[in-house]
Amino acid sequence: MPPDRYALFGNPVAHSLSPAIHARFAKQTGESIEYVAMEAPIDGFAAAANAFFASGGRGANVTLPFKVDAFRLAGRASDRARLAGAANFIAARTGGMEADNTDGAGLVADLQTNLGASVRGARVLILGAGGATRGIVAPLLALGPERLVIANRTPARAEALARQFTGLGPLAACALVRIEPGGFDLVINATSASVRGEALALSPEMFATGALAYDLAYGPAARAFLERARLAGAARQSDGLGMLVEQAAESFALWRGRRPLTGPVLAELRARL
Ligand code: NAP
Repeated sequence: MPPDRYALFGNPVAHSLSPAIHARFAKQTGESIEYVAMEAPIDGFAAAANAFFASGGRGANVTLPFKVDAFRLAGRASDRARLAGAANFIAARTGGMEADNTDGAGLVADLQTNLGASVRGARVLILGAGGATRGIVAPLLALGPERLVIANRTPARAEALARQFTGLGPLAACALVRIEPGGFDLVINATSASVRGEALALSPEMFATGALAYDLAYGPAARAFLERARLAGAARQSDGLGMLVEQAAESFALWRGRRPLTGPVLAELRARL
């Protein structure tokens, strides 16, 4: 029997660690899968994904810039994908494609299990209001923070997200340059500034005593933000490699019905980076 086929769609995708992560999950669990990165044309995600599933593809992950397209393409979606309005996961199910969003679960697992950080009662600041923020707001609010503020370069996008998630918890929005001082226990960089090599202005007032600074980007791309955060007073820093591995484990479990161990895979990739 040939292995079941899975793919990551994005543009660009050549740099992605996802094929390496899923190969390790497959080896660890004995599941017979093949997982490859597929670059779709910027205006050609739907055609590429439809062709993949028509040819027998069993599931796909979706990354920049196609997460909203993926949500719209699938006939059905989980509650968390609907809340986010974006999907990083598609499964071929009887009756068609089903979309989900595993980014939030991945971040929460990394924060709580790998980093031992508690969000309950914490003051949380998210920098950025793009696709990644859409996926993490509701799961973070579900953990019961004291407050969650979304700060974005284009304030209207942060305000639109705050309206979208009204009623789920203590949520506010502001401009990136208008973050009120007072101190946050957890500051999450969900902008794409890190991967673009652009600097964000960070002030000492941003970080409460003992604060954790977390960048969704990982490896060398995250280093500048995390170093600036350290200098501005963040006691702990983490990149998003753990989130990447955890969201992949959530995807693998949804597709295969078996949850892989993430610790060894994270440690191996960390050593490689
Ligand atoms: P996106 O939808 O393109 O959103 C980009 C966000 O970054 C927007 O809010 C944008 O602000 C802001 N931004 C870009 N350049 C900036 C700058 N120089 N200064 C200030 N703000 C800037 O991207 P995304 O999908 O949300 O992804 C964001 C990051 O998360 C990427 O690095 C991605 O790789 C990472 N990510 C990691 C994981 C993981 O598993 N670790 C999962 C998902 C995403 P405007 O609205 O003003 O343009």
